[in-house]
Amino acid sequence: MITFYSAFCILHSELRILHSELRIPHSELRILHSAFRTPNSAFHIPNSAFRILHSELRIPNSELRIRIMTFSSKLIEKAVEAFAGLPGIGRKSALRLVLHLLKQEKQVTVQFAQALVAMREGIRDCRVCHNLSDDELCRFCADQRRDKSIVCVVENVRDLMAIEDTGQFHGLYHVLGGIISPMDGIGPAELNIDALMQRLEAGEIKEVIMAISPTIEGETTIYYLSKKIQPLGVQVSAIARGVSFGGDLEYADELTLGRSIAARIPYRS
Ligand code: ZN
Repeated sequence: MITFYSAFCILHSELRILHSELRIPHSELRILHSAFRTPNSAFHIPNSAFRILHSELRIPNSELRIRIMTFSSKLIEKAVEAFAGLPGIGRKSALRLVLHLLKQEKQVTVQFAQALVAMREGIRDCRVCHNLSDDELCRFCADQRRDKSIVCVVENVRDLMAIEDTGQFHGLYHVLGGIISPMDGIGPAELNIDALMQRLEAGEIKEVIMAISPTIEGETTIYYLSKKIQPLGVQVSAIARGVSFGGDLEYADELTLGRSIAARIPYRS
């Protein structure tokens, strides 16, 4: 049996065939299985297994080549795994990025890694609005020129950035950290709703704009929040529907999103 060190991505259905056809012991299958769950882990796989994948499962050789990647260096392999763990980065792209970094001055990679570590160590939630922040208060909450009487409620930080990029909104934000989605086990308690209510009870805020994508979960969240907020005498409005139904706010173009905030309408549940 020829074995070689490689990183390989395998499907669950293929594991069963490997077991029945090749009689690969359970101990080895467990390694294969964990590799299935984390496609980037490395393990030993018998050469005959590849033949089965090709002949029995009719996986073309071209695809097998993409799914098998051998490395002469464990250090490179670890770096490729790290990049390939990022969304939208396949193993081929990951290898290209790693080789690109190796071509640069050593200092480029060091600064790259240091920036990531510094970001991860230093970043925190704004104490008031739960935006990502370097300090206790984020840039917006700390800015005395922002209109503190109006708060824009968003699902996540990406939506906040999309709205800020329009340049049309000059109030403060509140990041919920998600939307109510019983299917995903996310109820009001999982979101930054208590923090929002505390801000509103302080009395300075006169209007809350719901800048939440109008999906079913989004509508549920807006309805839930409006029921809690309206008794406080705070105006609740929803962004105008220039944003396509079910469309994510972050993909709405700046002009449309800017207009939909300017042309917001009072929310009626
Ligand atoms: Zn803040």
